Amino acid sequence: MRSSYSRIGSYGFCPKKYEYRYVSQIPAPTKPELAFGVSIHESLEHNFLQKIETRKDLPIGEVAVFFRRTLDERLEAVPDEFLRGPSDPHYLRALGEHFLDRFLKERAPGLQPATRGVECSFRLPLPNDHELTGQFDLLDTDWVLHDFKTSNKPYDPRRADRTQLVIYSWACERMFGRPPKELCFDVFVKGDGADGAAGLQDPVVFPAPTAADMGRIAAQLATLLDRLVLAESRRDFPRSFEPSRCHWCEYQTLCQKEWDQEGQPRPQKVSLGSL
Ligand code: SF4
Repeated sequence: MRSSYSRIGSYGFCPKKYEYRYVSQIPAPTKPELAFGVSIHESLEHNFLQKIETRKDLPIGEVAVFFRRTLDERLEAVPDEFLRGPSDPHYLRALGEHFLDRFLKERAPGLQPATRGVECSFRLPLPNDHELTGQFDLLDTDWVLHDFKTSNKPYDPRRADRTQLVIYSWACERMFGRPPKELCFDVFVKGDGADGAAGLQDPVVFPAPTAADMGRIAAQLATLLDRLVLAESRRDFPRSFEPSRCHWCEYQTLCQKEWDQEGQPRPQKVSLGSL
């Protein structure tokens, strides 16, 4: 089976959502959070791709124009009822420009992208004929691998997803012949109104995983994919949550309608490990 890590995680989050997205492939309405995060990513990619040749960052105003255009295009696909409060387009534009302004002044001048080191897509072979696909954001010439994140709250390194770190490190080794020196999360904190202001978090840095970590994680991922194949063959896709409360899920309307038609069956927690 070929899968991304986010696809595997999606089943553990809610099997019904996994079914809608990956099995039935039902298109979901775009959420403003996604449009915002993708626009920040694409703006940074736009800067770093040209920097491979020029070795210079673009003027801040040029990146801001690119960001605004990208965000506006992506927000066109977002239903109007989602574009309120902290998702108001004017607020998102101002917030994104503030993030990019700070990043380009404070971080970008110290980062030189490696050749082929921007938005790197990878495929990793796993045992049992599985394959893991993915992408990392930036490898710099100091062998630091960067992942850009937008988040409501500051990132807590104690809760870091070790598997994701191992996957990035392994991908770097396969693509560039050696693992990164370290991994760095650059986190753009949107602020959730209760947990502090919006801003650019200090870099969150992790040491590169060991070769033994990589072997262990590869075996675990292959086992998870075996289980996912089994779940799909059994069409084992219960709801993990009560649809009437899943305000953040893009499939909420469809899920709730089907849940009502089915007589509101009890939600059931199913993790990959318990299959
Ligand atoms: S609305 Fe809730 S239960 Fe339904 S698919 Fe989404 S997350 Fe799962």
